[in-house]
Amino acid sequence: MDFGRREFIKAFLLSGGYLLITPIDLLSRPKSRGKWVPAYERLEREGKLAQRIEQAYALFENCHLCPRRCGVNRKKGEKGFCQAPMNPVIFSYHPHFGEEMSITGKNGSGTIFFSNCNLRCIFCQNWPIAHEGRGREVRDEDLAEMMLALQKMGCHNINLVTPTHVMPNILNATRIALKKGLHLPLFYNTSGYERVEILKILDGVVDIYKPDMKYMDSDKAAKYSSGAYDYPEVAKKAILEMHRQVGDLKIDEEGIAYRGLLIRHLVMPNRVAGTEKFVKWVAENLSKSTYVNIMAQYRVEYKAYEYPEIARGITVEEFMEAMEWAKRYGLTNLDPHSKSLWEFYKKRLSN
Ligand code: SF4
Repeated sequence: MDFGRREFIKAFLLSGGYLLITPIDLLSRPKSRGKWVPAYERLEREGKLAQRIEQAYALFENCHLCPRRCGVNRKKGEKGFCQAPMNPVIFSYHPHFGEEMSITGKNGSGTIFFSNCNLRCIFCQNWPIAHEGRGREVRDEDLAEMMLALQKMGCHNINLVTPTHVMPNILNATRIALKKGLHLPLFYNTSGYERVEILKILDGVVDIYKPDMKYMDSDKAAKYSSGAYDYPEVAKKAILEMHRQVGDLKIDEEGIAYRGLLIRHLVMPNRVAGTEKFVKWVAENLSKSTYVNIMAQYRVEYKAYEYPEIARGITVEEFMEAMEWAKRYGLTNLDPHSKSLWEFYKKRLSN
């Protein structure tokens, strides 16, 4: 066992008490993938990672890290739309068992939940974290220690949830952790509201991207995501750039993802998410073997109850039509959980 009692207590306290520890299995280290090394390690060997960190940190002086382009000086303590300070604020970090199977594996995904958000949807399931910024401000060195602690627990990747507004800190922490032995894939888990110019700084750093594609219509994006009318066009360009960088999802012989792109799409009531347009766009603009997770778990959260159009869960029929569209447009790599649910409902409806 290489995760000592003191370290456990420290990690538990740093996580605000949300650290979840499950079986002893977690303490085993992931097996090697032959000659594979994480992208950020290759970049460091080429002598380019420090330069990227410098480039990223300069953006804090006139923050254009995301499409909101607030232009505030976060180094001087000014805050923009996301309300984030310059240091990362962490709500919790722990092995997470609710991700896709190839991300979760048997030991969990090493998830770090960053507080604050640059999109702020009115149906946000993490609203105390994203909207209210609950959490604890830490240094980049602390963030690096969290990554290392998650690795020691046996997690399969470092899962950065809502990373956009703290990208420079993530780069810096990754380099610090790399020097102390970090070797897990870096997994960028984002709303998709990303600028291509900023993603280019991450080229050769991130191993796995998992963007959402929340809406295909500007009016819906503006209405439900704090005026982000440009979300559909911005997210489409961002996803194309992510795919250019990492390609389709690659899974090792143990069923664990180590590089590539997964897209998440939450089916919403009354076709608010534009699911048919989404699957058509994926089929026509990415490969049909793109890993797509069409999710059924929309629920009424935060202020969604104030908007009749989205003030209910989705129906079985709405989920079924979403999956049928994916099939019709030829997507071949749908998330196994969604496919099982689809099969279950198909059988039930045919009886
Ligand atoms: S990261 Fe925050 S401060 Fe910077 S542009 Fe985006 S919303 Fe504004």
